[in-house]
Amino acid sequence: MRNDLEEKLGEKYPFMKKGRTLAEQRQSGHIDDLYSAFGCECSNGWFNLLDEMCAKINDAYIEEKMKPDIIIDQIKEKYGTLRFYYHFEGNDPFIHAFDAVGAGTLRIKPKGDRPVYEKISEIVSWGEEQSGHICEICGKPGELRNNGWLMLRCDECWKKQNKHRI
Ligand SMILES: [Zn+2]
Repeated sequence: MRNDLEEKLGEKYPFMKKGRTLAEQRQSGHIDDLYSAFGCECSNGWFNLLDEMCAKINDAYIEEKMKPDIIIDQIKEKYGTLRFYYHFEGNDPFIHAFDAVGAGTLRIKPKGDRPVYEKISEIVSWGEEQSGHICEICGKPGELRNNGWLMLRCDECWKKQNKHRI
């Protein structure tokens, strides 16, 4: 995703602010914060969706009168749709999901026992589900396409993409 869009998210939602850069992490010996290193590993068409998800997460904290303690681990496209991995302060997960080719993904639910955590889990599931209907390139209504890779595209972006293929 474009840097200026990522920065916009970081300005609106402090929990979306990126920390140590890839170079800084490399220097310290290992890369352990994928979100800060690589940002949103998806195209610009999902910006509005991410913005909406973050607004809902922010509202959930306001409702509970809680300071956001969500930590974003990785945001990416996988098998054509959005993955939004996170945990809560003090509950660092070792792994977020098990993927089996052809058998889908088993998600590990982030630990935490406050009501707001349940709400956030619902918001994230909702957002990931929504991404299955939004073109990853331009944000218009799209559908899952398959040309060997699974991807979310509207008719127009799908056509454009195939024009350049032999
Ligand atoms: Zn499109």
